[in-house]
Amino acid sequence: MSGIDGKVVAITGASSGIGEATALHLAERGAAVVLGARRTERLDALAARIGEAGGRAEVVGVDVTRRADLERLVATAVEAFDRLDVLVSNAGIARTGLVGDLDIEGWEAMIDVNVRGVMYGVAAALPVFRRQGRGHLVTTVSTSGLKIVPTQAAYAGTKNAVRTFLEALRQESTDGVLRTTSISPGFVRTELVDHVADPAVREQSQRAMATLGIEPAAVARAIAFAIEQPDDVEIGDLTLRPTIQG
Ligand code: NDP
Repeated sequence: MSGIDGKVVAITGASSGIGEATALHLAERGAAVVLGARRTERLDALAARIGEAGGRAEVVGVDVTRRADLERLVATAVEAFDRLDVLVSNAGIARTGLVGDLDIEGWEAMIDVNVRGVMYGVAAALPVFRRQGRGHLVTTVSTSGLKIVPTQAAYAGTKNAVRTFLEALRQESTDGVLRTTSISPGFVRTELVDHVADPAVREQSQRAMATLGIEPAAVARAIAFAIEQPDDVEIGDLTLRPTIQG
């Protein structure tokens, strides 16, 4: 099976930014999408928009720090559309700041959402993929993990933890059942840095995003590229950044 049309794709963090753009793009290309996030009113609006355009979408309230929520996301895909072809583990937060500021709560929150959230998704989807004999895990990591810069120590660490987890899983999964893809975007114009606690870091990040950032649809197209490959082709890592980003 190749292409996008007819695939069933569950997406975490679908209520804004990259996840929302990915849901729209994949639905336009014929995928049935299962939308997960905490802000369900935004998911409902997105599902209505997809439905009006002739697409298929289900909404699930998901907090990725709760394992049971990921199980519900996967179960909803199977109940509504008979299977799950792809899980896009995209939900993430960036509580960036200097290590010396000791924002320990921020570190813990990033570990919970960015690392545990992805692991719980993998744990929920893998048994379904094995039963089906096929499946694809896609995750949104970051160029933050490739070029380490001040204020991004913990954030980049969570992204590289996920990169490492998926690479080992890839090596363990050579029976042809599972494909894994880590997408590493640079600056993308989204709400991501609006929640940074330190006002100076927040403003600097918002400025960088406004001047450098590319549209979330660019990442959606990269995710679609990985998904649409034939089953025997795995796009393991894909990096995309603004052409002007250093
Ligand atoms: P947004 O802030 O626009 O989107 C983040 C999404 O994650 C929202 O849909 C949010 O939904 C969801 N989310 C956050 N916490 C939770 C949680 N506990 N449970 C479920 N969902 C949650 O940012 P982006 O679109 O930019 O971020 C998407 C991913 O891309 C993240 O993993 C981010 O690290 C990564 N990334 C972003 C880059 C950028 O420059 N924008 C660059 C590289 C990577 P809700 O609040 O409704 O739960």
